[in-house]
Amino acid sequence: MTTTQTYEEVKATANRALRRFSEEPLSHFIGGEWVKSISQSVLENVSPIDGSVIGVVASGDEQDIEAAVKSSSAAFPEWANMPGQERKKILHKVADLIVERASEIAAVETADTGQPIRFMSSAAMRGAENFRFFADAAPGSADGKSMPTKDHLNYSIRQPIGPVGVITPWNTPFMLSTWKIAPALAAGCTVVHKPAEWSPCSAAILAEIAFEAGVPSGVFNLVNGVGEQTGRALTESEGIKAVAFVGESRTGSLIQAQGAPSLKRVHFELGGKNPVLVFDDANLERALDAVIFMIFSLNGERCTSSSRLLVQSSIHDEFVARLEERVRALRVGDPLNPDVEIGPLIHPLHCEKVRSYLAIGVSEGATVIQAASEFSAQSNYVNPAVFVGADETMRISNEEIFGPVLTVISFETERQAIEIANNVEFGLAGYIWTGDTGRAHRLARDLEVGMVWVNSQNVRHLPTPFGGSKKSGVGRDGGDYSFDFYMETKNVAVAYDTHTIATLGGQR
Ligand code: NAD
Repeated sequence: MTTTQTYEEVKATANRALRRFSEEPLSHFIGGEWVKSISQSVLENVSPIDGSVIGVVASGDEQDIEAAVKSSSAAFPEWANMPGQERKKILHKVADLIVERASEIAAVETADTGQPIRFMSSAAMRGAENFRFFADAAPGSADGKSMPTKDHLNYSIRQPIGPVGVITPWNTPFMLSTWKIAPALAAGCTVVHKPAEWSPCSAAILAEIAFEAGVPSGVFNLVNGVGEQTGRALTESEGIKAVAFVGESRTGSLIQAQGAPSLKRVHFELGGKNPVLVFDDANLERALDAVIFMIFSLNGERCTSSSRLLVQSSIHDEFVARLEERVRALRVGDPLNPDVEIGPLIHPLHCEKVRSYLAIGVSEGATVIQAASEFSAQSNYVNPAVFVGADETMRISNEEIFGPVLTVISFETERQAIEIANNVEFGLAGYIWTGDTGRAHRLARDLEVGMVWVNSQNVRHLPTPFGGSKKSGVGRDGGDYSFDFYMETKNVAVAYDTHTIATLGGQR
């Protein structure tokens, strides 16, 4: 779903929705109240669209985190013991309120991140779907298994692990945070959320919605601030039992180390350099649409983006020619305009990183195809680019660029395709385009990734496992997989009083 609003209407919605962030500093939400940082520290939040200041945001430190952890610990017993049916009702209400405020959330998110409104509208609705899905799952969250033997009745039950930390990135902040917070709350955990410092606004709206929906005080807390300080304190806190993190692989390693002294359970969704393999027997029309969508939607700032196109040599030139035509026609511009397909990147620093790869690719010997647009010269804008003539040894073929940049590598055989596809340190997603069923299954088996889509772009089905292998992640989300992370599984063995018990120290 894209927005049904006109450009003027989206701008008006954004202006209205952003006013509050400029009029009043954005605070933390702890124990059901909006509070400033104890140190009074603030950060400036700037829109990537035009560099204007959206507002100032409280920047938390160890003291603010400890206040939030204390509040989530105090709220935990009651929330954990609330019947699942009650949690279900509250979480459905959260979903209802997200739907009611979806246009506002989408406009705020676009202004805060530079992601085009056409994608942020559906991302806001995905947030509601995440809450609905896990609301329905809440009553069954404690369900375990029955594993009887001749002498014992074994059954398992699941119990919420305790207060959890959720740390999210800036690329689709609202949707991604609901993907973590909804299952945690459904499981009976309490939450301390630390959103990305470059995109804090929609997290505040989620806190408001949760409170209005009846999520009790202390069950959902929000602490803003920078990763190295606020995020770090959250991952080090003894009161936090598990950390769900979405972000860069490098940050994942840091968090694992920070959480080690308290033996924190971690769940990581990290970076990717996802291959899309296109064979000459594929439906090339559909493959072309999917290849373009999966790298150029969401500004290419997407963990599952198909950033490496591996195309069979027999169709390489024709496929690349058609790709070039479409890439040159991509509409770059103000992300609040519903017609726009590519907006500005999140931050000048990130933009600089993406631009640096354009120079790196050329210096490595690849040829860049890049559309020119009137926005090229403006800060944060990068025109969509395709590298052709690349090989698997180049940095542009191995490193996550996280922008609208596609690297094309030609291959001859299926064996060569799988070798190139697997020859990276990441392993999040892989896409296969072929008309040969046997080959599709062989490649799906052999790709070293957590998720494979055959003849499809990334289409999410919420009960299925989502996550990466290698440096792309630890653990899986989705359906029951999420509950396994947010809950402890306990086994209870009850004897029928029929089994033998050794009599130590008794009569022989
Ligand atoms: P990032 O790792 O820089 O930051 C993510 C979050 O971690 C932010 O909230 C940040 O403040 C916090 N953080 C930073 N240092 C920290 C520390 N030492 N301790 C605790 N928290 C810390 O990532 P980013 O640049 O915001 O996001 C882009 C990355 O996210 C990309 O690599 C992308 O692939 C990845 N991502 C992965 C998925 C997935 O599902 N696998 C989804 C979306 C994004």
